Formats: sequence, structure tokens, C-alpha cells
Amino acid sequence: MNKKILIVYTGGTIGMKSSERGYVPITGFEHLIRERLDHSHHALLPHFDLIELSPLIDSANLSTNHWASMVEPIIKLQNNYDGFIVLHGTDTMAYSASALSFMLQGLNKPVIFTGSQIPLSELRNDALDNLITSMLLAIEEVINEVCVYFSGRLLRGNRSSKVKATGLDAFDSPNFPWLGQIGLNIELHANLFLPESNETFKVPNFTDGAVSIVPIYPGINGDIITAINSDKKCKAIILRSYGVGNLPDQNSSLIQALTKASDSGTVLVNISQCLQADIRQGQYACSAVLNDIGVISGAEMTLEAAFSKLHFLTATEASNATIKHKFPIALSGEINR
Ligand code: ASP
Repeated sequence: MNKKILIVYTGGTIGMKSSERGYVPITGFEHLIRERLDHSHHALLPHFDLIELSPLIDSANLSTNHWASMVEPIIKLQNNYDGFIVLHGTDTMAYSASALSFMLQGLNKPVIFTGSQIPLSELRNDALDNLITSMLLAIEEVINEVCVYFSGRLLRGNRSSKVKATGLDAFDSPNFPWLGQIGLNIELHANLFLPESNETFKVPNFTDGAVSIVPIYPGINGDIITAINSDKKCKAIILRSYGVGNLPDQNSSLIQALTKASDSGTVLVNISQCLQADIRQGQYACSAVLNDIGVISGAEMTLEAAFSKLHFLTATEASNATIKHKFPIALSGEINR
């Protein structure tokens, strides 16, 4: 096979080994991959090069500036490869896949995020299959977008969420069909893939803390919103509401704090705590107040996509009116409109 792919190794369980303090990512993973891939099958796989980011991280340590270091080699070497794999920890993979889907609009090549629940270094693992299948997916010409491949499922990256902490089928896209199923055969649903895009790449300077997430819970006090909003870096707050977008409208401390935050120019976005959801502000009287305050519906967007999109928009757009205008419109297939 004369196709070529680039693997960007960021860390995560797939490349970890156990230490006295638990699993840690280790350098030199390329050697282990080459050792594990059966030599007799090399001819069926694309040629690959591997770039190891430094430092490697457990993805629980992800901060927003890691996104630029993942995307830079892909942009720099875009013409040298047919496709790309990002090896990433599962804990925050859906955040990074979402962020890269916004940054890499216009790449028009497959970018497949994968990882594993058990390290490749262990006898029994899910790493080898996730890796080999991702290598085959990374040369599929029908894929023009950032995906997550995990345990037989090919998912749109910005529709994916980690749904299981220990099950090998750790990822799903609860509000969007799988882009492909990989069992006996590789079955791709060609009608679901994004078309080629004419957009150009944007690699903005992200700021940790520009976007916060606040879950709604019984008895919540508005002070939590006030405290977050008093941080100068805060540009947007995601409210994780109940069901179709509900919250306690009789909780005056909360409503007053939200009103003040919105009046001060902070973008407020409504995302459900339910994995399978579509926000309908005003379906119940208790959520009608959100329309008055100017909270924007996140519709069926995942929390991870909404978070990364708000980071992307607050880093690329100057005015909060533009951010509010652009947020509900699909950039890269993350929402149905
Ligand atoms: N804590 C690990 C990480 O996200 C978990 C994993 O990779 O499965 O890096």
C-alpha cells in the first residue's frame, strides 16, 4: 500500500504503563506499535510516521493550549499525508475532537481520534484493534472530517461523548447516528459524512477559563454564577439544565445572577444534563425566563462540542453579539442546522 498517514501521539491510556502511582504515559510508543503490528500484515496497512508531543499527558491534564500543539503538525504536514490519527486519552477526547473539528475546517482529509481503555503494553487490550482500524479509516477518501473511532464505532468527533468509564465501548454519539460500524466489515454511511469545505484553518490563542460549565441542581445559589462571572477571563457560561432546558425560575438568587451576568456581556448557553436531548426553552414556563435573559439554546449539541465551540468563537470573534449569532449555526456538523 502506498498511502501514508501521520499519527500524533498525545498520551492517554493507549500508550501508558503502570507505575507506583498508577498508569502514566510513556515515551517511545512508536517502537511498541511497530513491534505489535504483525509484520506479515504490514503490506495491508498504510505507511505511517509518528510524532510524539512533549510532554505526553494523561488527558485529564488537558488545557486549551494543548489543542494548538495537536493541530500544528497536522496543518504543517497536511500535504505529505493522506490522513491523520490523534492518539489521545479517553477522558477528554471528545473535547479535543470537537475543538479540532472547528480548527481544521477545510482540511478535507480524515482525522481519526482514538485511544483505548487498556494500554497496548498489556496482554489483553482494546488498543491494537482501535489502532489498526483507525489506520484503515484514516485513508478512507469519503471522510473529510474529524472523527472518533472506538470499539467498532466511527463517530463524528463533535457529536461524541465518553459514556462508559470502564466498558470497552466507551464512546457514543447520543444525538447523531454513527458514521460507520466496524464489525466483520467496515461499513461507512457515506450519506452522513460532511462534504468538502472551503473554509480556512484557524488556530486561535485559547484562554483557559474563558468558558465555564455550571450544573443546575436543587437549591443552587446564584453566588456560584456571580463568582465565575467576576473572573475577567470569563466570556461564556454553559448552564447544564434539566431535561429540555429547565431550571428553577423561582430561585431568585439564580435568576438575578444570570440576568446580571448576561447584562455584563457574558454569553450564556443552555445545554441539557441529559445525554439524549434537544433544548426547548419555553416549552415549560420555568424555562421561559431564559429567553427573557437572552440565554442561547444549545439545541442537541454535546457539552463537549458546546464548550469547545464557545472557546473557538470567543477566541476568534471580537464581539459577543457575533458569538451569540454564530453559536447556534453549525460550523462543522455539530448541530442540525
Ligand atoms: N486518564 C486517561 C486519559 O484520559 C484515561 C484513558 O485514556 O482512557 O488519558
